[in-house]
Parts: sequence; C-alpha cells; structure tokens
Amino acid sequence: MPRLSEVIAALENLWPAERAESWDAVGTVVGDPDQEVTRVLFAVDPVREIVEEAVKLGADLLVTHHPLYLRGTTTVAASHFKGRIVHTLIKNDIALHVAHTNADTADPGVSDALAGALDLRVVRPLVPDPTDPDGCRGLGRVCELDHPVTVRELAVRVAERLPATAQGIRVAGDPDAVVRTVAVSGGSGDSLFDHVRAAGVDAFLTADLRHHPASEAVAHSPLALLDAAHWATEWPWCELAAAQLDEISDRHGWDLRVHVSRTVTDPWTAHAASIATARPSPATTLPTSASRPPSNFSGAPN
Ligand SMILES: [Zn+2]
Repeated sequence: MPRLSEVIAALENLWPAERAESWDAVGTVVGDPDQEVTRVLFAVDPVREIVEEAVKLGADLLVTHHPLYLRGTTTVAASHFKGRIVHTLIKNDIALHVAHTNADTADPGVSDALAGALDLRVVRPLVPDPTDPDGCRGLGRVCELDHPVTVRELAVRVAERLPATAQGIRVAGDPDAVVRTVAVSGGSGDSLFDHVRAAGVDAFLTADLRHHPASEAVAHSPLALLDAAHWATEWPWCELAAAQLDEISDRHGWDLRVHVSRTVTDPWTAHAASIATARPSPATTLPTSASRPPSNFSGAPN
C-alpha cells in the first residue's frame, strides 16, 4: 500500500506543478505525506457534494481539477464553506490534491480527454507550450474529424457524448456549415479566439463563451462555435486521469482503487428554453438530447 507522498510523486510526474500558470494554485492542499492510500476519487470540483462522496466512498485521496483556494486564505474556520471542506477532509483522513492548468497543458491533458470523448483526432496543441521540444503539450487541441459533419451533427455528437447538464450545448454560426477541423479547449476558452482564427478551423468547442467575443468571432468568419457546460468539458479528464493512475498503480503493484465521481457539479441546475412568441424568432432547435435533465448522469461513483 503506497504512502500519500508516493502517490503524489506519481501525480506530480504526470502534471508537474511548475507547468501550471503563475496565477494558479495547484498541488496538495490537505494531506499527511505518511498516510497510506488505498482509495482515490477524481472529480472536477472540490465542493461539498464531492467531499461527502469521498467520505462515503472511504477515499484516502481526492484529486480535483479546480483548486479549493485559488487566491489564498487567512482562515480555514469551518464557519466558511471552504473551511468546512478542509475540516471534513482532515477529520476523515482524506487528502486533497489539485491538478489544474498543469493538467490543461499536459500530454495527454484535459483537451485530449475532451477530443477523445468526441472521437476527434488530435493534430496538435492550439497554443503550443514553447518549452516542449516535441510540440505536444499546450493549451487546447486542433483536431480533425474522420468524416465531415455539419455543425448541427457535431452539436448532437457533443450533446450525446459529454455528460448531460442543464445547459446542454449552445451553437453560434450556420448549423448547416460543414466541419472538417475543430479546435477544442476544456473549460473557459474565450481568450483563445486569436489562436482559433490562426488555426483556420471550421469550429471551436469550449465553455463560458461571452456575448461580444462570440458575436465578433462569427461575424467576420465562417467559424462555428459550440459552447458546452464548463464542468462537462473538463469531466472527461477525470476518466483519463483515473486510467493513468490505475496504470501507475498496476506498474508499482499498489493495488489502488481508483474512482471517478459522476456527480454533476456544474453550478447551473435548470434551463428554460425560450417560448416561441411572435418575435423575435426562436433560435434553431437541434434534434439533440441536450435538454435531458442532468439527473440521468448523477449517481453512485464507478
Ligand atoms: Zn475549469
């Protein structure tokens, strides 16, 4: 049975902390290096529901993509919800480790997992890491499709393959345009439009797109935009990361039990589709399952 320090060393090898952005807060947040680890849970968000799931599961280590404290703190008093999380973790001997922007740019990383979930063939990073001589690491991925599809068909594929959320998939641009190349970026991607335009792709899949950048992007080019829920675009990384740790566990004979949380922690919990009235005309309705309630994805961890 490995100690936490050994498991963390393996995770740091996959996602070295020095490759995180300077503003980020990655690494071990809670945990005794000498504690033994048998059960690990991967999740996107270190929120109350996930910590409760880790307690119920008997996890010794919770690995999340998003940091608990991004901007630092002067208190972990349980009167605050983040302090409560720290207390719950320590009382239950659960360590917390974060791999955020260092997992985004890793090879394989968050956007590789997103592309993989959609059967997109990764060609190269959208924003290559200049320190990587192999040109494989970096932010986002430029991908090709095996067969051209319409924007409408691609949106349906995204809605079907990513875990269901209240938001579903929003589309900007011509739904009937043909897509052969796609840029993908898990999480908030609207700072990447310059790179997307330079890549000359037909479509861009990301999350958290804002009105003005999206409006300008589609006004001046045939680029189509697909906006999924932030959580849903990053969740496939949990499965990738769990498989990577499983493989390391096998190699070392650690016999770790590695789990992925299926609890939907996207903050948006409901979606009311616009009701068709005289004007303005309603947006195109895609024949997707995007309006499925998120409940069909939540449940016991696997
Ligand atoms: Zn994120």
